[in-house]
Amino acid sequence: MDIRSRLGLRAVINVSGTMTGLGASIVAAPVVDAVAEVLPQFVEIDDLQRHASTTIAAACGSESGYITASCSAAITLSIAATMTGDDPGLIERLPDTTGLANEVVVQTGHLVNYGAPIDQAIRLAGARAVPVGAATEAHAYQLAAAISERTTAALFVVSHHAVNYGLIPLEAFIEIAHAKGVPVIVDAASEYDLKRFIAAGADLALYSAHKFLGGPTAGIVAGRKALVRAAYFQNGGIGRGMKVGKEGIVGAIAALEQWARRDHEAVRAREHGYLTLWEDALKRCPGVRTQIDPDPTGNPLDRLKVSIDPRVARTTAWDLADALARPRNASRPVIVRDHEAELHYFFLDPCNLHPGEEHVVLERLLAELHFARDSREPAVTPFHARDAKRATARKNWPD
Ligand SMILES: *Cc1c(COP(=O)(O)O)cnc(C)c1O
Repeated sequence: MDIRSRLGLRAVINVSGTMTGLGASIVAAPVVDAVAEVLPQFVEIDDLQRHASTTIAAACGSESGYITASCSAAITLSIAATMTGDDPGLIERLPDTTGLANEVVVQTGHLVNYGAPIDQAIRLAGARAVPVGAATEAHAYQLAAAISERTTAALFVVSHHAVNYGLIPLEAFIEIAHAKGVPVIVDAASEYDLKRFIAAGADLALYSAHKFLGGPTAGIVAGRKALVRAAYFQNGGIGRGMKVGKEGIVGAIAALEQWARRDHEAVRAREHGYLTLWEDALKRCPGVRTQIDPDPTGNPLDRLKVSIDPRVARTTAWDLADALARPRNASRPVIVRDHEAELHYFFLDPCNLHPGEEHVVLERLLAELHFARDSREPAVTPFHARDAKRATARKNWPD
């Protein structure tokens, strides 16, 4: 029996992506085995993290690395590391940064919210974000001018939520920061390429273990040895509340190993099969346009962009997304990628499907489109009402 029905949970189908709110990703079978194997045993965590360092170094082309609770924790602890080094007195003093350089330069277009605001991950260490440029444009001279003796680090964020045009590219960003002696931290939480950022000169590159890697919830810090050590030592300070256990460390190591062995071509071909299955059927539906859309940050991954014309489809992209997530009958809930729904489209992400679920996704889409077309009244809710509705629905949690 599916554990979800035992717990009274809905058996959701995820065509949204690797979302914390949905349980991140499908943890690969060898990773599940490794975690189950270590859970009943004692280990010496320094030695386990030393092993993780070797695995991360090989995977990322870095000097060293360690595992933390999440990429968000990795951001906080990396920034802490730039301020304290390996000094235990300073590590215990955080988040009090009196007298320390504590400014982190970051492009305004990189100040994303990945479930929490990224500038809060900076503030948690006792540092503060110094925004560079405007939301949609930043220049080298602005970065250079923002760096002073108060600067402790420069943070570069790679995300589909970040503004992906008009900003300072990674190579120039690193060059300017390094010319002023400032270490560069790259938040690459969702990036498939484990080597690119270190190879470009980043001092630290940070990843999530539970996203594309198919690991348990954990964060990966890769980079220069002295900085990695200083970040690891934060576990005796502010890192304590962001603790990762043996299961997270072993799971992240196993995830990196299985990623190196994964048949990426075969996975891509399977995902492409899902996209063409959906596209062939949906493009015949009135008021629906489809397009295979490459990942905005350049991951080797396509999604199906489904655009809805409300005048013809008699529903909107967001009403359709909500109907898919909250079926009227016993069918399975389908969660689409709808963070840009007010622009009249959503995406279908093929990465987190179990075999056969691609057909359920299509059946549900066709059924909801059909239902909307045949309804007496068009299902068109004003978009601004959607946020308020969601906030109300959640307000009395856990009731
Ligand atoms: C997901 C994400 C994070 C947060 O990662 P967690 O490991 O879930 O804490 C941070 N930055 C970016 C760009 C992300 O996509």
